[in-house]
Amino acid sequence: AEECSVAVGVRIRPFNDRERALNAQLCVEVDGPTTILQTPPEQAEAGKNKEPKKFTFDASFWSHDGFEVDAKGYCCPAPGSRYADQQLVFDTFGRRILDSAWEGYHCCLFAYGQTGAGKSYSMVGYGANKGIVPISCEEIFKRIGANTDANLTYEVMVSMVEIYNEQVQDLLVPPRERPKKGLEIRESQQLGIYIAGVSRRAVDSYPSIEAVVEEGTENRTVGSTLMNATSSRAHTVLTIEFKQVSQAAGQQGQKLSLINLVDLAGSEKAGQTGASGDRLKEGCAINKSLSALGNVIEKLADKAMGKAKANAVVPYRDSKLTRLLQNALGGSSKTVMICAISPASSNYEETLSTLRYADRAKRIKNTASINENPQD
Ligand code: ADP
Ligand code: MG
Repeated sequence: AEECSVAVGVRIRPFNDRERALNAQLCVEVDGPTTILQTPPEQAEAGKNKEPKKFTFDASFWSHDGFEVDAKGYCCPAPGSRYADQQLVFDTFGRRILDSAWEGYHCCLFAYGQTGAGKSYSMVGYGANKGIVPISCEEIFKRIGANTDANLTYEVMVSMVEIYNEQVQDLLVPPRERPKKGLEIRESQQLGIYIAGVSRRAVDSYPSIEAVVEEGTENRTVGSTLMNATSSRAHTVLTIEFKQVSQAAGQQGQKLSLINLVDLAGSEKAGQTGASGDRLKEGCAINKSLSALGNVIEKLADKAMGKAKANAVVPYRDSKLTRLLQNALGGSSKTVMICAISPASSNYEETLSTLRYADRAKRIKNTASINENPQD
């Protein structure tokens, strides 16, 4: 087993139409891997420290400006610009997730941030600007296709769930055919943490995995809020089970990697979205999972820095999300967190809270181990 930190990247999106119309002020700057947050004048006047706040991560992606759109609609850097496009984000983090999967590590990549900050853009993408998830799926089958070793075969299975109001719902089952209270998360010696009864689909090509993901996406629960009418109010988890089977001298060997790709619901505090009634209940449940995630991250960071005892209990069981991500945080998995932030000073408070969250997450130490020849 090998000790490794959770890798953290921050990404800054362009102004949206609303921010442009309101003449938004830019309050974020990037310097190499460092993200710098300027204190807006109205915050400084309130008697707060107005020094810029600096946070250094594995990567800080400047995707705010400097791009041009090619004939296919793909946003790429204009000549000489530092614009971070989808390919760069994949090359930085997606590729390393795949390399780890090939070595036999469990992996997790999740996107955190307020609604509208760019989580889904980075994870799934829009139109020609495919995100880490489709690029990775494509790359998996490219790599499998390039294999020339007749003694090595691959099995790929996918499942897709969402956590909505603290229930785990199978996205590969139509809503009316699902158990009302959702699925149970369990733990076993052989499988580790798993979702009992979740659908698992075998896929053998990029088009087949793409079709499964599309089906799951159609089945999502989508609620609209004032802040982002199309944003899902649920956490979406795509799990790719990647198994390599080798035959050598009559002996069969296996390596198994679970790749969890997680698009979290918006991290904004309830109230800011103007939510009420049903929407507010959702907001509370989302906050339950996300505040539990925050507590888990804080406890693990404290442990890593010696501020909490090594045997202190980490509250994974406080929410479905933290239970499901248990292995990703402080466990045996290789984990990457991408934090999406808004460039506008009007979102200063949420952006600061996201950067602080990210700053704690980067301190977490996992003990990654290869899953070779598991007993089954
Ligand atoms: P979230 O999933 O965090 O709620 P989205 O990913 O849907 O937010 O992003 C909100 C809007 O901002 C979308 O219209 C998206 O196209 C745009 N956007 C986000 N990130 C970027 C980026 N890096 N480059 C260009 N546009 C972006
Ligand atoms: Mg989204």
